[in-house]
Amino acid sequence: LEDIKETDSEIASTVVKEFERQNSHIELIASENWVSPAVMSVMGSIFTNKYAEGYPGHRYYGGCEIVDEVETLAIERAKKLFSCEYANVQPHSGAQANMAVQFAMLKPNDTIMGMNLEHGGHLTHGSPANFSGTYFNVVPYGVTNDGVIDYDEVLKIAKDCKPKMIIAGASAYARTIDFKKFRQIADEVGAYLMVDMAHIAGLVAAGLHPSPIGFADVVTTTTHKTLRGPRGGLILSSKEIAEKFNFNKAIFPGIQGGPLMHVIAGKAVCFKEALQPSFKEYQSQIIKNAKVLCNGLKKEGIKIVSGDTDNHLMLLDLTPKNLTGKEVEKLLDMAHITANKNTIPNDPQSSFVTSGIRLGTPAATTRGLVEEDFEEVAKAIAFVINEGESAVEKSRQIVEKLTNKYPLK
Ligand code: PLP
Repeated sequence: LEDIKETDSEIASTVVKEFERQNSHIELIASENWVSPAVMSVMGSIFTNKYAEGYPGHRYYGGCEIVDEVETLAIERAKKLFSCEYANVQPHSGAQANMAVQFAMLKPNDTIMGMNLEHGGHLTHGSPANFSGTYFNVVPYGVTNDGVIDYDEVLKIAKDCKPKMIIAGASAYARTIDFKKFRQIADEVGAYLMVDMAHIAGLVAAGLHPSPIGFADVVTTTTHKTLRGPRGGLILSSKEIAEKFNFNKAIFPGIQGGPLMHVIAGKAVCFKEALQPSFKEYQSQIIKNAKVLCNGLKKEGIKIVSGDTDNHLMLLDLTPKNLTGKEVEKLLDMAHITANKNTIPNDPQSSFVTSGIRLGTPAATTRGLVEEDFEEVAKAIAFVINEGESAVEKSRQIVEKLTNKYPLK
């Protein structure tokens, strides 16, 4: 921080303020996490200075022999972690991993099926606001009134629209995804199956959610959610598919220039951490905490979309409380709980207002919170939902006890 202060006191003070914000709040945004000190350090290392267009052994710049070692380590560890033959560690983000795969496997106007954004899918799975919804003919699938994927319905839609690609994976889906069923559907209609496991990658790495490897033609993910690495993306597949569609070429020079070598070094460290037995314990604690939070909220009369959670997140349906996601996000923030408003299936509100709140346990689990703490978190959330602004103070007191118990380092 001293270096930043010396050069730029304004930015230095934002770093301090952001640390204080993170330290004084309970982080329940399902896609966020805290990287380890090793990942943090290597991202701020000398690798940020290096240009390395190309791939290990085939670069367009000199002086790449050390970054070749870094990228090779990242690739080999990713392959080991997810038991697959090919990994591309260069995508700058999850969105770019998805774009590269679609660029490699599809032509403009091809039909794709992805989960409806409002039912829990991601923008890059065919939202009209995203390139995927602009260049391809998108036929979305959703969830039933019970909030779960109806695989017979997915098959029916697929038979009708004959997609070139089906995308499985979501940003706000709390139940186990059956990748085998998606494979059967894709096979029945002759479609490629792409799985975007961004949210559940850590659970998959730990063997706590079924892996899409072996079912999907290609798997994409981010590295910064449950996987707890640096912000970035990753593409995984068999050697045969990677060569057939040339995913390497789709990333560079297809949609990106030079790789972020400091982030790739961070990914290598993250994959090493994820290969340790302690990572499995961490992932299993994420799930235990999510169960406790979900049950605690249900006990307080709060409705959960699909009625339960199998993974690290849950979606609260606020319609029975006559509240919007926007209102509750603000109330939670006043109580020092950070979460995001989220549409629920068939939401009567716009995506800026919404009728839902998405909660996830990965970040707070990294901080150290366990089951007994999440019982308290459930109470703090339920107070503001059930009693409104008058309960903010008592919720904040619960939060303060927990943030003092687990100070950020
Ligand atoms: N895929 C899924 C399922 C996501 O939830 C997200 C991010 O929230 C992404 C892709 C995009 O990742 P990024 O923000 O790194 O582009």
